[in-house]
Amino acid sequence: MTGGASGIGLATAKEFVERGATVAVLDRTLDGLPEPLHGFTADVTDRASIERAVAEVAERLGGIDVVVNNAGISAVGTVAENDDAEWARVLDVNVIGMARVTAAALPWLRRSEAASVVNVSSIAALNGLPQRALYSASKGAVLALTYAMATDHVAEGIRVNCVCPGTVHTPFVDRMLQGFADPVAERAALDARQATGRMVAPEEVAAAIAYLASPRSVSTTGTALDVDGGVSHL
Ligand code: NAD
Repeated sequence: MTGGASGIGLATAKEFVERGATVAVLDRTLDGLPEPLHGFTADVTDRASIERAVAEVAERLGGIDVVVNNAGISAVGTVAENDDAEWARVLDVNVIGMARVTAAALPWLRRSEAASVVNVSSIAALNGLPQRALYSASKGAVLALTYAMATDHVAEGIRVNCVCPGTVHTPFVDRMLQGFADPVAERAALDARQATGRMVAPEEVAAAIAYLASPRSVSTTGTALDVDGGVSHL
């Protein structure tokens, strides 16, 4: 589980523990990571740190059955407002990071009887969200990467799916709200823009990821599951 120290990743790690799994969290920062999660400091932009952490996970925990590529960062702006350095920074985390982690875990996934990879995309991949050109492009790439990886590894018994969450109330969104003059009013406006009148809860995304990670979805690969309260279909 990458980015498992906060938000959707932390909720998913807890869900996996409730279902009896042993969970390794790979994150840049592990502050406050609760027991019994196993923390490994790693940065998805640093191939060496990922290869080291993934090998350590497999050795200490006895293998790897599931990879959840969740670590991601936000970017605000139109194409005119993000410079090349910002494009490189966001794509490095949101897209190449997933490729690095999955590649590092493949030797162990190949040995697993229940290998599943779940990538965290976004409704930004499916809808033209305002002021999100770079972020949307990165999440669209996650969708395409999911389909390609599913095709490449289906014969090896490795499933690859993704979730497309809507607006989920996590620290990621709280940080974005702090950028507004009146964060409380902006929070209310954000809730009101959701089809259900509220943001999605991290636990609701965690349940979808847990389904795709588990053998209950054994015949499902190369799919995207929206968890957005229906906002994409209005
Ligand atoms: P969050 O900021 O609460 O958590 C993200 C975690 O990823 C943090 O623990 C952070 O330390 C970690 N991380 C960031 N860069 C990293 C790196 N280079 N290496 C290792 N770890 C790194 O965010 P969240 O809202 O829980 O988002 C998780 C995922 O869900 C992201 O991919 C995000 O794009 C996606 N998503 C979020 C929303 C939303 O509304 N919150 C909606 C759709 C998709």
